[in-house]
Amino acid sequence: MSTQKGTIGVTTENIFPVIKKFLYSDHEIFLRELVSNAIDATNKLKTLSSFGEYKGDLGEMNVKVSVDKEAGTLTVSDHGIGMTADDIEKYINQIAFSGAEEFLAKYKDKADNIIGHFGLGFYSAFMVAKKVEIRTLSYKDGAQAVNWICDGSPEYEMQPIEKTERGTDIILYIDDDNKEFLEQARIDTLLKKYCRFLPVPVLSGKEQEWKDGKYVDTDKDKVINNTEPAWTKKPSELTDDDYLAFYRELYPGQDDPLFWIHLNVDYPFTLTGILYFPKIKNNIDVTRNRIQLYCNQVFVTDSVEGVVPEFMMLMQGVIDSPDIPLNVSRSYLQSDTAVKKISTYITRKVADRLEEIFKNNRTEYEQKWDDIKLFIEYGMLTDEKFCERAMKFVLVKDTEGKYYTLDEYKTLIEAEQTDKDSNIVYLYSTDTVAQYNYINAATDKGYSVLVMDGQFDSHFIGLLEQKLEKSHFVRVDSDVIDNLIRKEDRKAADLTPEQRNILTTVFKSQVPKVEKAEFLVTFEALAADAAPLVITQNEYMRRMKDMAAMQ
Ligand code: ADP
Ligand code: MG
Repeated sequence: MSTQKGTIGVTTENIFPVIKKFLYSDHEIFLRELVSNAIDATNKLKTLSSFGEYKGDLGEMNVKVSVDKEAGTLTVSDHGIGMTADDIEKYINQIAFSGAEEFLAKYKDKADNIIGHFGLGFYSAFMVAKKVEIRTLSYKDGAQAVNWICDGSPEYEMQPIEKTERGTDIILYIDDDNKEFLEQARIDTLLKKYCRFLPVPVLSGKEQEWKDGKYVDTDKDKVINNTEPAWTKKPSELTDDDYLAFYRELYPGQDDPLFWIHLNVDYPFTLTGILYFPKIKNNIDVTRNRIQLYCNQVFVTDSVEGVVPEFMMLMQGVIDSPDIPLNVSRSYLQSDTAVKKISTYITRKVADRLEEIFKNNRTEYEQKWDDIKLFIEYGMLTDEKFCERAMKFVLVKDTEGKYYTLDEYKTLIEAEQTDKDSNIVYLYSTDTVAQYNYINAATDKGYSVLVMDGQFDSHFIGLLEQKLEKSHFVRVDSDVIDNLIRKEDRKAADLTPEQRNILTTVFKSQVPKVEKAEFLVTFEALAADAAPLVITQNEYMRRMKDMAAMQ
């Protein structure tokens, strides 16, 4: 093969100005693209080797990113499949032809972690480089190593070179506007962001050691990534400590999370991940420590608006899916059917998990309730589907610190706290200190008072009034308490005034010191029996005893 010149296969006169402008604010993603390609090349070779189509020694399979400040270059090297001149012609010179797709079609079953098709791909290198060089040797028997150079015009040059190591070096001659990418610290930051959990070891810079009062480079290459992050493992392989350790790796210095969910689905879309329920005391801040979106272990973004329901933005952790279309506009993302399915799936899983913990471990659930309450209330307020599910496991707390489900609480109070329109009256306090006297007055009368002092509680009360039939929420310091009618009162009220008079006279004559409340119980018994308006002394004493026992 001799030197060959040609024009890359684009129809517009020159694609490079477009590339430079495109996603300009995001030009750092070139590194993600190049490292992804290097990982793909590595994984492809592993796949071929496992199929017996590559019989050679795989050797050390890592990806290296090195900067040479003097030469003004940044190089991404791999020991993957490499490229022949024909490959370059096909996959590089003809822009927009993705080799990843072709490879996947051929080795579908095995090669599930090919990243491919990300964004601008290889050509994103021209966002930061005035010249790009490829030096590559294919894994194929007897392959000739090739060098390809392009200086940012549509013309390229290709020629045979000496290269004995299998794999590819992509050399970027960084342009003057982008000198920052020649700083090891800047590259470290980028690699930490995009490559932290890539499946192949990524090396960049040197390990440091403390020597003579300062840090100095050793000659050991620094490994950037954790190649086996927790979400890629089976839940059965992981202990609680593993989940917590992974959380701390993602969000150093944070309080440990309350619960987590390991997501794992193959159909109708592929998605794995671990979502954590963080402690949320007050003051929700969705901009902090957000869910991170990955595509085959490559970091894509941590702005997941539109991918997960809004309330889930309060969760933390990782979602990894090759099925979420990347680098497209938000509005497109929100209307994408795959994304909708994913969103629905995650909502369901989150509800499943909470219900499961609630059912199997009520004590733990109650202990953590105060910290998860905001999340669940926010979810119920903003997501209809989640709300339906959560009606079963949302808790309310009374002023004594006891927790109840909505059903339990209704059963508790319905006999005692009803108004004249037969609404069940939920008394609540928005401030247990300021309303202390009112709470005492209410509990002295035997009423139960809920604590509703959370950030969303006023909205949440509105929601409950809609959802719970014949319910009425009343502040404990309002005068409604005095108008509450107990079930017994209502029964008593069913009596005609004449009946009531007769009864009162009978009781007063028989037992002069009977209190009002005690009267009512007996009234009820009588009304229920629809019996003659007399009661024997014995029967009366029995009922009094029952009542004393109940109190
Ligand atoms: P994609 O990764 O979506 O296929 P790219 O533009 O990133 O698109 O890359 C185009 C093609 O170039 C790849 O599919 C692959 O065939 C080839 N390629 C790029 N980088 C390398 C590399 N480091 N080793 C081997 N082949 C590569
Ligand atoms: Mg690519």
